[in-house]
Amino acid sequence: MTPVIHILDAHSANQIAAGEVVERPASVVKELVENSIDAGAKHIDISIEGNGVPMIRVRDDGCGIGTKDLPLAVIRHATSKITTIEDLDHLKTLGFRGEALPSIASVSRLQISSRPADEVAGLSLTLNDAGQGEYEEIGCPIGTAVTVRDLFFNTPARLKFLKSTPTEFGLISDTIGRIALAHPEIAFTLTHPSQIVLQTTGRGDLREAIAAVLGHSIARQLMPITARHEKWQLEGFISPPNLVRSSKQSQYFMLNGRTVRSSILSRALTEGYHTLIPVKLHPIVVLHLTVSPGDYDVNVHPTKMDVRFKEEQGLSQFIKEAVYHTLLNSKPLPSMQTQP
Ligand code: ADP
Ligand code: MG
Repeated sequence: MTPVIHILDAHSANQIAAGEVVERPASVVKELVENSIDAGAKHIDISIEGNGVPMIRVRDDGCGIGTKDLPLAVIRHATSKITTIEDLDHLKTLGFRGEALPSIASVSRLQISSRPADEVAGLSLTLNDAGQGEYEEIGCPIGTAVTVRDLFFNTPARLKFLKSTPTEFGLISDTIGRIALAHPEIAFTLTHPSQIVLQTTGRGDLREAIAAVLGHSIARQLMPITARHEKWQLEGFISPPNLVRSSKQSQYFMLNGRTVRSSILSRALTEGYHTLIPVKLHPIVVLHLTVSPGDYDVNVHPTKMDVRFKEEQGLSQFIKEAVYHTLLNSKPLPSMQTQP
């Protein structure tokens, strides 16, 4: 028999897309917090129950969502951030695919409460299990709160694949730590369940944010690095060669405020340290890279963590030299200190 082609209903299409965007509770947290950052929030509070499955709530004091726009926020490919693909060349926001909220909504019980600055009251949207919205006018502060309950309640295969509460919460806390290092100008508070686990001041001081995320001892020992090229700008901190880790976990790369992973950047870093660090050991770094949005592509994967650069080689060389010169100029080189 000839197979019959039909278009998937929106709910099923969203659930399939969710497979890529929403891998686990930490991915939900990342998407919600990135939306808060895009909304221009100065304070972002994240509260978690258990491993994130029972409840994730992200509250911000950003621009809010207008009453007319709220129904659109949970529709796939609906976004306020771009209009055409060309907009990616001067993208200023972390989001642009309009996929996160509908994906999350399709695999959880979602509620959004929001109030823009020019409204006297807020509006809350609660989606029922069939994906239909119920609206209610509510009193709430300016900004947005998104509450995700019972994550993966309707996709048992996903639920089964999740790890223990310490592992899943560890990934959530790592995600917030990374984002907080990318945005020292925003005050983040992570609570689990009612205890503050991570808190940054939002004063814009990167070393202060590093102290909150990686601890005071590491923050004290890191060395500032800055370098400029007509196309690229590098700013941040790198560890002296005697402060190393056995994994690359403590290497934080930020590209225009977006946390990214990139083997190119990682390799350039290793080459910058040259022979100062034994093989299999890795420096601790927090590096903010500024590159014109037209010179790289983040539209490689739905999670937007992977990135491709137009001028890989030149950029590698720039980073390698910046690291090398920073180490050379730190006198005396910490690993070569001799006792008097
Ligand atoms: P994207 O971020 O790619 O646009 P999302 O599904 O994450 O897609 O969000 C859809 C839209 O909902 C956003 O474009 C934005 O207009 C709105 N939105 C989501 N979260 C917030 C928030 N915290 N504050 C203000 N607007 C928000
Ligand atoms: Mg988004």
